[in-house]
Amino acid sequence: MTAERERLEADVLIVGAGPAGLACALHLANLIAKQKVPDGISAPGAATRPLSTENVCVLEKGRAVGAHLLSGAIMDPRALAELVPDFQRSAPLYTPVTADTLYFFSKHSAWPIPLHPAPLRNRGHYIVSLNRLAQWLGGLVEQAGVNLFTGFGGAELIYEGEGIAGVVTEAKGLDRDARPKANFAPGYEIRAKVTVLAEGSRGSLTKDLVARKNLGNINPQLYGLGIKELWEVEPGKMEPGCVAHTLGWPLDSATYGGGWIYGLLDSRVSLGLVIGLDYADPRFDPHEAFQRWKTHPFVKRILEGGKLLRYGAKSVPEGGWYSMPHTYVDGGLIIGDAAGFLNSQRLKGIHLAIKSGMLAAETICEALAAGDCSAKMLSRFSKKVEQSWIKEELWSARNFRQAFQRRKLWGGLLHAGLQFLSGGRGLADPMRAHAGHEGYGKVDESAAQVPVKPPPRFQGDGVLTFDRLTDVYHSGTRHHEDQPCHLKVADTSVCATACITDYGSPCQYFCPAQVYEMAQEGGEWRLKINPANCVHCKTCDIADPYQIINWVVPEGGGGPNYEGM
Ligand SMILES: Cc1cc2nc3c(=O)[nH]c(=O)nc-3n(C[C@H](O)[C@H](O)[C@H](O)COP(=O)(O)OP(=O)(O)OC[C@H]3O[C@@H](n4cnc5c(N)ncnc54)[C@H](O)[C@@H]3O)c2cc1C
Ligand code: SF4
Repeated sequence: MTAERERLEADVLIVGAGPAGLACALHLANLIAKQKVPDGISAPGAATRPLSTENVCVLEKGRAVGAHLLSGAIMDPRALAELVPDFQRSAPLYTPVTADTLYFFSKHSAWPIPLHPAPLRNRGHYIVSLNRLAQWLGGLVEQAGVNLFTGFGGAELIYEGEGIAGVVTEAKGLDRDARPKANFAPGYEIRAKVTVLAEGSRGSLTKDLVARKNLGNINPQLYGLGIKELWEVEPGKMEPGCVAHTLGWPLDSATYGGGWIYGLLDSRVSLGLVIGLDYADPRFDPHEAFQRWKTHPFVKRILEGGKLLRYGAKSVPEGGWYSMPHTYVDGGLIIGDAAGFLNSQRLKGIHLAIKSGMLAAETICEALAAGDCSAKMLSRFSKKVEQSWIKEELWSARNFRQAFQRRKLWGGLLHAGLQFLSGGRGLADPMRAHAGHEGYGKVDESAAQVPVKPPPRFQGDGVLTFDRLTDVYHSGTRHHEDQPCHLKVADTSVCATACITDYGSPCQYFCPAQVYEMAQEGGEWRLKINPANCVHCKTCDIADPYQIINWVVPEGGGGPNYEGM
């Protein structure tokens, strides 16, 4: 198979067409057009040739740009204004934020929190559909002459020397036993002087690179899982531009997270719950928690009489500054959510993803012009980040998320207040954290000795609340059924023995798309995987207590379709 592989050469290869990857591509194109780069690239020993957008490629695993993008999404326009100064003329912005309230939920009441610190205020920001914003940015990138390939996932990194030299895309046309079918096509080998990983949260190539090259920071990355629905509601139920965030019920004070409800145009409402993937109960079900949250009188009042349009789920890197890996190696950079450029205090990463993409583009131009794409040269990216407003913003929230892991809700809020007064320092700096999957308590051993059928799962009423399969249907998820499973479980005997008795098979609970199921066959427990349901949230890769699940890219184009989300 390898012998038949086609080989392509590029100057720059960007993996992932989210805000980070697209901003990197567009800024590169703008710099080339403005001739801020010298007219040629002269790699040592190579003839100088013109730098052109034709030699810049972007790979996207989704069937279209934006298909796999999910966000709240309130966008701080700061970075977009730098990238596309006249963005207001053509960007698909739903509406500016007009009202902004934070509520604390008890089971039956909603208490507005009068103290609304500056980082949590959203006036001057826009509610957007990230899917549409990315389609618009993708259009600008293509107009600028960059090659944008959708339906192609980066499956493997090409490691060379101390760094990376490109990617191999996934093979197409393999059956479920990895045997070539009639339409078999091996992946392409795309080599580049600089490969930019812009894969978003828990990128599969990024994970491999960070582990192999030991790029991790003092804290592991901490993740949340965001579960979202888009609804059409009765006119007047929620004004466009109206924003509500919630804390409290149904999450207990030991579980980090909160909800959002944003009023969009055309009586549409974006709502969701983000839950820290460091909760203690291995049988906690984030999807069910989200469904229950919708039954709160405050949320129910808005949704009653409306209908569910879309569903999705995605992980969020919440750890902040001390969880970010080193972002450069020989021939490679990591940007956006893949590197953890996200401010969890504000639940905002779009502007940081865009800005990190722009700074990467500037670094790449300097590196190509000098004919030096070594880690030393590319470390300029890190310096640019340090000197930009990214550092200022992330530094002031550097201990935010850890405080909630260590001190739970009330202690976390107290710490957050102290951090706010001390420029992010708080009582301990750096505040340490542990990986979320290390925090599970074990299930009751006496009950676990004899594994029983899991308790009946949440069904929903089919009007306000839904089971997971109904929701998955609304995510537009599609994969070819006859392909190798893209959820690689290193040792399924662990699932059938230790994981059941120790943790009660948490994969059955944390997956928001009902991909994992423990089934009894001939008296033995066996893990059944339904990969076709997968919405690519990456939660299993993150939250599996034994870290034996490896999410890899499925055949390109497979996955959700978050149109309008
Ligand atoms: C529920 C939720 C709510 C949020 N709310 C907000 C908000 O209100 N405001 C805000 O500013 N931010 C919000 N965020 C965060 C924001 O969405 C991210 O910070 C931002 O999208 C990061 O951009 P990115 O380009 O780094 O990654 P992504 O947006 O994740 O894009 C990565 C892209 O890379 C593709 N990809 C991944 N791996 C590969 C591969 N191997 N090969 C090819 N393609 C690949 C993916 O399909 C995807 O299209 C929210 C996030 C979530 C999950
Ligand atoms: S299988 Fe994993 S990545 Fe896919 S939806 Fe379930 S938890 Fe998310």
